[in-house]
This record gives sequence, C-alpha cells and structure tokens, in this order.
Amino acid sequence: MLGLWGGWLLAGRALRPVEVIGAAASRISAGNLAERIDIAETDSELGRLATVLNSTFARLEASFATQQQFVADASHELRTPIAVLIAEAQATLVRPRGAGEYRATLDTCLETAQRMRRLTEQLLQLARLDTGQEVFECHLCDLAETARTAVERVRPLASERGIAIECNLTRAEANADPERIGQVVVNLLSNAIRFNRQHGVIRVRSGAENGAAFLSVADTGIGIAEADFEHIFDRFYRGDSARTHASGGTGLGLAISRAIVAAHGGSIAVSSRAGEGSEFVVRLPTTNSP
Ligand code: ADP
Repeated sequence: MLGLWGGWLLAGRALRPVEVIGAAASRISAGNLAERIDIAETDSELGRLATVLNSTFARLEASFATQQQFVADASHELRTPIAVLIAEAQATLVRPRGAGEYRATLDTCLETAQRMRRLTEQLLQLARLDTGQEVFECHLCDLAETARTAVERVRPLASERGIAIECNLTRAEANADPERIGQVVVNLLSNAIRFNRQHGVIRVRSGAENGAAFLSVADTGIGIAEADFEHIFDRFYRGDSARTHASGGTGLGLAISRAIVAAHGGSIAVSSRAGEGSEFVVRLPTTNSP
C-alpha cells in the first residue's frame, strides 16, 4: 500500500509540469497570444521544452502582430483612393458642368482607380508569395538578357526625365523565372528613375561571381537616409524623401522584390550614400530552384 501511495505521489509530482504546460498552451488563442508557460513551475528537462515553446509562442505573437499591422495598413492605403473617388464624383455632381469639367473628373477617377488596381494586384501577389502559391517557371536563363529586356521597358520613362541608362551586361546564368526576376529589375529600375536627379545616370551590371549570378542597379539619385535604411524592404514603407519628392509609389515594390528573390534562394542587398545615390544588388544561385 505504501509503495502504491509513494508511486502515486511521485507520478503526480512528475506530471505537474506537463499539466502546467498543457494548461498554458490551451489558454493561448488568437485573442490571447501573450500567454506564456511559467518556467519556474517546470523542472529542468521539461523547463527546456517550456523555454522552446515560449519562444515559439513569442514568434507566433510577433507574426500575428505583423499580419494585423499589414491588414490595417492595406485598408488605410485603399481608403485614401476610395475617398478621392467619392469626393471627386460628389463635387462634380453638385451642379451641371461642361464637357471639359466632366472629362477632368473622369481623368482623376481613372487615374485613382488605376492606382487602386496596382495596389490590389501587389497585395494579391504578396499574399501568394506569403502562402507559397506564386507560380514560378524556372529554367536556366541569362540574367543579362532579363536585364536588357527590363531596361528597354523603362527607357522611355528614363528619357522623359533626361536620365541615361548605361549597361555593362555579361553572361549571368541562374535557374530562375525570367518573368518574375524581370519584374524585380523593372522595380529597381523604376525606383532608380523616380529617386534620381534630373539628368542623372543609372548603371546596370550583371555577371557571375563565386558560383552565383549577380545583377546590380546603381543610380546617382537622392540616396537613402540612414533612418530609412533598415526599413525600405518593409511593406508600405516609404522614406520621407519618397513622400515629398516622388509620387505614385505604394511602398510595396521592394517588399515584393525581396520575396521573389528569396523564393529563388537568392538575396538582395543595398548600399547607399544620402545625396549621392544607391546601389541594389540581386544575387541568385546558378543551380537552386524555388
Ligand atoms: P515605393 O517606391 O513604391 O515607395 P519601394 O518598396 O519600391 O516603394 O521603396 C521603398 C522606399 O525605399 C521608397 O519609398 C524610398 O524611400 C526608398 N528607395 C527605394 N529605392 C530607392 C532608390 N533607388 N533611391 C533612393 N531611395 C529609394
């Protein structure tokens, strides 16, 4: 009897930390992600397990907060053009107008709707990238070719601002989806145009280095302020200079570019000097596939 009682006591003591862990885990829900396991209540072996679980819960809480912020930012970004559409239509309909005024209103509405379309397309693409549903058609391709096509697409925009694009493109083989990487290059080039000075220069280089392909886009523009540096790849982030100088940006271009490059197993790096210019370098493995 004594043996049985002793065993029951011991088992109870041994199982107590498991109960603590179980109770804490079951209290965690979408509305209560701040809950943690009380490590003092768990012994050394289970204490280690509790520490691992606590750090997992902390990561979940952080990513949930990021998602909530993203939804709030996306809603805010969409609310602005919707408000513009409504205000334009209401102001125009207050009294009868001439054909010219109606046309001007329609032009503004069209421009606003196009901005909304771009924003929603970018949001959908980010959602596909987040959930791994973006389709990549990868094959061995030459990034120099991808860069050449992208440069030709943006050249009219650069010419409008008197910006010259200089290319030094050597063969850069990567296992990549040329459409998606082309999108990254167009993003980088259009930033290099928008944030450049009048009659500035953009230098595009490609090549192979240490078994990887690289592609660089450098500009002679306003550069990136130190305070903006660690945030420019964040969703919806726009530097102060972007808000005041260049209009039309959504703050999603670099976030999408980084997600596309990461899906290829590559990296994107930036270096910049405020007032002198910036350089973005994309590196892609020659053999990996997403
Ligand atoms: P968007 O260009 O739509 O604002 P991005 O995600 O492409 O959004 O860029 C985020 C921010 O990074 C920009 O608002 C700007 O502050 C900064 N940035 C990006 N590219 C450059 C560049 N070439 N020169 C200076 N700043 C840049």
